[in-house]
Formats: sequence, structure tokens, C-alpha cells
Amino acid sequence: MMIAYLDQQLRLGPGAEADPHPAGGELDPELEAASEDFGGVARALPAVVLRPGSADDVAGAIRLASRSDRLTVAARGNGHSVAGQALAPGGIVLDMRAMARIELVFSDGGQPCADVGAGVLWGELLEWGVREHGMAPRSWTDYLGLTVGGTLSNAGISGQAFRKGPQIANVAELEVVTGEAERVVCSPSHRSDLFFAALGGLGQFGIITRARIPLYPAPRLVRWIRVVYSRIEEYVADAESLVACGEFDYVEGFAFLNRGDDPASGWDSVPIGPGSVFEQDLIPQGSGPLLYCLELALNHELNDDVDKRMEELLRPLKYIKGLEFSLEVSYVEFLSRVNLAESEARANGSWDAPHPWLNILISASNIVDFDHEVLQPMLKDGIGGPMLIYPLLRSRWDPRMSVALPDSEVFYLVALLRFTRPYPVGPPVEDLISQNREILNRCRSNGYDFKLYLPHYKTQPEWAHHFGKNWARFVNLKARFDSRAILAPGQLIFSRAH
Ligand code: FAD
Repeated sequence: MMIAYLDQQLRLGPGAEADPHPAGGELDPELEAASEDFGGVARALPAVVLRPGSADDVAGAIRLASRSDRLTVAARGNGHSVAGQALAPGGIVLDMRAMARIELVFSDGGQPCADVGAGVLWGELLEWGVREHGMAPRSWTDYLGLTVGGTLSNAGISGQAFRKGPQIANVAELEVVTGEAERVVCSPSHRSDLFFAALGGLGQFGIITRARIPLYPAPRLVRWIRVVYSRIEEYVADAESLVACGEFDYVEGFAFLNRGDDPASGWDSVPIGPGSVFEQDLIPQGSGPLLYCLELALNHELNDDVDKRMEELLRPLKYIKGLEFSLEVSYVEFLSRVNLAESEARANGSWDAPHPWLNILISASNIVDFDHEVLQPMLKDGIGGPMLIYPLLRSRWDPRMSVALPDSEVFYLVALLRFTRPYPVGPPVEDLISQNREILNRCRSNGYDFKLYLPHYKTQPEWAHHFGKNWARFVNLKARFDSRAILAPGQLIFSRAH
């Protein structure tokens, strides 16, 4: 039935609109769901949504699209993009959640790996690995309701990345169906050009149908720690010394409001663990409107010396003594820590509101200036959600991967994860988008070395600027692996060629 519907679309010819009401009645709920994303700002109806069961199905859809001179194909992971990256206006959306098989395999050298369909959620992989095999991947995202194929098309970053690399640096093998409808199994040693192109490749070179992800013994427990700073200079000095020494298993952090009237973004957003209280009297006089919280974790087993290790590692840090919090949780609980925030956001309506998020990777040499020139003056009242700021190391990223990074070895992720209520309770989304634009303008006019993470631009010159010296390589790979620009049209990098 799907193929017949597709054929009907193919016969419509150039410029024809897809009929979103195939039965002549209500809008098809599957099409409607595939016409929007978590960002809630971009919207475009596809012609059809298919649920591929295999790489051959994916290749079949791409072949069908290539028979027309206008149809495009977008893989949709869990639709958690924020600017329409997984949309296919009038084209074919492949619901990759249909490819959700997980299997334990061993490499030739005996390394255990999870062989996973691209539509598996990281949370599903965690549950399966820990519960069934006592093993887990070692690089994560904060939120686990994202697909393996979706984050591998971007990077996949969290507090482990400074040490173990992003998720795209933790893949042993991929199965990819290119825009030429060729199924390729690739790895660092076989068809490495496509392997590295697809990692962070924004879906431009092929659809990842399967990924092989190395597994390691899962730690039993995690000591989860938060410490508070009043000055960005001390915060970044400590954060950078911790990522350099590599003793912690996880280093992240965020800015929060130096106020008590906002439970989601103020003092009360920091304490972890039942009964722990934020003693605001400890904040030094003259502190600014924002404070900073370094979030750390030590993986450990029962009956080891974690208390002593924690004490030794925290001793030299310059945080405000007395404003430290710690909690013992299981590994799964730690990695699932964002679930509570998701439930709260669903309950108060901010999960379903638009999310014009802004993620910037910015050189360590600019981060203090960014705080003084951008964060403090522009965002002193917060954004209704987390403002993550934490360092990463360029040497953990393979330069053959497609993702664009700042030039310096140490750079920060600044993630402005807006969670405001829908208008008119919250601000109009246009105001938030124009604030993002203003932030980027300031970054440019101040000459910061930065790149957008989860980038979204509307014109090719902007994309060329984003990829910089690697743009020619990106264009060349596109010509080889998706010469008619059938794939991932929602990224707005290339136009469908006849
Ligand atoms: P989608 O949004 O569906 O797709 C993203 C892009 O990849 C699209 O262009 C799509 O066509 C393409 N694509 C999807 N699947 C495939 C595939 N199999 N093969 C080829 N191309 C494909 N990111 C982090 O790095 N760290 C975080 O901690 C983090 N936390 C997040 C928390 C929330 C609540 C949200 C909404 C997002 C978060 N992200 C984070 C961003 C996330 O990595 C991106 O949204 C990413 O796109 C994954 O989402 P998805 O699986 O829903 O993919």
C-alpha cells in the first residue's frame, strides 16, 4: 500500500503537492507527526512515512525517490532535532524507530560490541546492556531518548566525552545505505571514507541502518557530585584542570541564576539528594546574577575507597566551600538522571512548547569573554532551562569525521536548552529566536572561534563558512555518495538535483 501511495506521488510530477489527506478526511496522523520535531519551529509535510525493516527497504525507498526528479528521503530518528533537520517536504520520511534490533557480537579481537539498529534509543541500549550483560557503551548523551543513528549523525556529547570522546568516536562499524542506494558495511579499516563521512555527517552521505558499538563492564555505582562557583574564571580553571588530569569519569557543568525565586533555574536547581539544601548565605557578597555549578562523577564498585578519592580530588578545587553536594546512585540511575526533568517539563507544558535551542562549541580562549559579554548581560534572567557550559578536548575527535569544531584543543559546549512555557504564559518564540541571533552576532563581532553544534543554516554560503577549510571535502563526499542530493533535505545544505 505504501509503495502504491509512493508511486502515486511519483506520478504527480514536479511541483505537485503531496495529498496529506489520503482518505479525503482528517490529516493522516503519521504524516502529521513526521511533519514536525522537538524544536516546534519548522514544519513540513512529507508525502509518505515508511517503516523500513531492513537496509534493503531503505535502499528501495532511495531508489524510488531517485526515479523522480524531486523526491527526497529523510531518516527520522526520534524527531528530537530543533530546526527541521529530519523533515522531508513532500518527500519520504523513513521512521528509523522500526529498525530497533540489538544483538551482542564480538570483534575478531574478542571485544564485545552491541550490534544495533539505527533506531534504537540510547536508553534502550543502556537497559539491554546492563540488565542482560552487565556491560554498556562508554560515551553518552545527557538525555537518552535519542536514536543511535540520530546522534551518530551529529556527535553525541555528554560529560564522558572529554575522556572517552563523543559517541561518534566510539563506533567500530557502520552499515550505511548511500544516496546512490548502495549498501556498504564500513569501519575505520574498510571503506573508511564513508565511515568517517557518515559520523557527524548530518545524514548527508547515507542512512545509517546499523552501528556496532563497543561495550565495557558497566560500573555498579556512581558518586555524583556538584560544587558551586561564583566566578567564571575559577570555574573554568578547575573544569579545565579536571579534564586535563582525567581522574573523574564525567565532567559537566552549568550556569544558574543567583536567585531563589526560580526552582527550575535558581539556587534550588543545584542540590542533589533528599534533604540537601542550598545555603545561600555562603554565596560571596558582590557575586553576579549567574553562578556556576561543576557537575562531576566517579564510577566505582561496592566497598572501594570512593570517599577518599572524592575528598582528594575535590580538595584543590576553588569552589565555595559548603556548597558541595553528592549522591550515591546506580550507573543506570545516573545515566537516566534527565528523566525526572522530562517528567516535570511534560507536566508543566514546556516539553510540548517550541524549543529554539542554541548549542555552540567555543574555544576555551573565548569562554570567559563570552560569559562577560554574552551570558551575563543577555541571559541574566535565565532561559527557563539548563545553560550547560563544559570543556571538551579536540584530541578525542578524529579529524576525518565530518563534524566541524573550533580550532583550539580545549573548547566548551555552551548549550542553551530553552524550556519556556508556551506563549502567552511564556515569551513569543520569535523573541527567543531573535535573542539566539543576537548571541551569534555578538560571537561573530567579538571574533570568537566557535561553531554551532547541531548546526542549522538556511543558505549554502553559511554552510560553507561553517565547514571552513573542510567544505570542499564535504562537497566532494556529497558528490560521491549522494550525487542527486536525495538525503536529509531538512538540513538545507544541498538542493535536490535532477
Ligand atoms: P532526528 O532528530 O530524528 O534526526 C537528526 C538528523 O539526523 C536528521 O537530519 C535526520 O535525517 C538524520 N538521521 C536520523 N537518523 C539517521 C540515520 N539512521 N542515518 C542517517 N541520518 C539520520 N545531543 C547531544 O549530543 N548530547 C545531549 O546530551 C543531547 N541531549 C538532548 C536532549 C533533548 C531533550 C533533545 C531534544 C536533544 C538532545 N540532543 C543531545 C540533541 C540530539 O543529539 C539530536 O537531536 C539528534 O538529532 C538526535 O535526535 P534523534 O535521534 O531524534 O534524530
